[in-house]
Amino acid sequence: MPENELEGMVADLRKAGFLRSEAVEKAMLEIDRIHFVHGSERPFAYSDNALPVGYGQTISAPTVVAFMLDKLDVKKGMKVLEVGTGSGYNCALLSYLVGPKGNVYSFDIISELTNLAKENMGKTGLDTGNCKLATADASCGFEEEAPFDRIIVTAAMPWFDKAHPLAKQLNPNGKLIAPVGDRLFQDLIIFDKKSGNMEKVLPVIFVPLIGGCGFKTEEHQSK
Ligand code: SAH
Repeated sequence: MPENELEGMVADLRKAGFLRSEAVEKAMLEIDRIHFVHGSERPFAYSDNALPVGYGQTISAPTVVAFMLDKLDVKKGMKVLEVGTGSGYNCALLSYLVGPKGNVYSFDIISELTNLAKENMGKTGLDTGNCKLATADASCGFEEEAPFDRIIVTAAMPWFDKAHPLAKQLNPNGKLIAPVGDRLFQDLIIFDKKSGNMEKVLPVIFVPLIGGCGFKTEEHQSK
């Protein structure tokens, strides 16, 4: 029997089939989502909903977070790029999954969110020093630290194919997971660089990725 709401949330994710990896399950139990949710959203910290984190952005629903990390198969010691830090929740989970010998580079285009994410991650009481946060348009990736073992994009991308800069920044055995589609609806795609295989795995709704390889800002403002 789950002992508290966090354990209940994780047990539900497992039952629903969104959480198969033990490592991701452990990470989700260790990193309490409550630290990444504020104000009037706190009562919903363990509900399976995306929640506002300010500046028009959201923390993804636990189902989507669990599903993406499960599919991405992040291992200890890996070097991971996250595009879209938001609350820092996913970044903290990645930090736990790669362990002290791994590295996570996470970018947000909104500096206030980079700062909030740092604060939130600090509240977990865990050592997240292997996770480097910065404010930048990372829609075309982060060439300086490439190649990455894994890339996770947590904002909607208008396009992705083998010629995309993010595909080029993966190591030869690398994998990427990202929502790809229009501003309103997307499919999560998983790309395996070795086989060149690209698979649509789940219909989803993410906030748009803005910038050079994302949507144009003007379109964003007109919505
Ligand atoms: N992974 C986050 C949720 C991300 S929401 C979490 O766990 O809470 C998507 C984020 O992508 C938003 O915070 C948004 O500001 C950011 N974003 C949008 N365009 C971006 C870009 N070009 N580069 C980096 N971040 C971007």
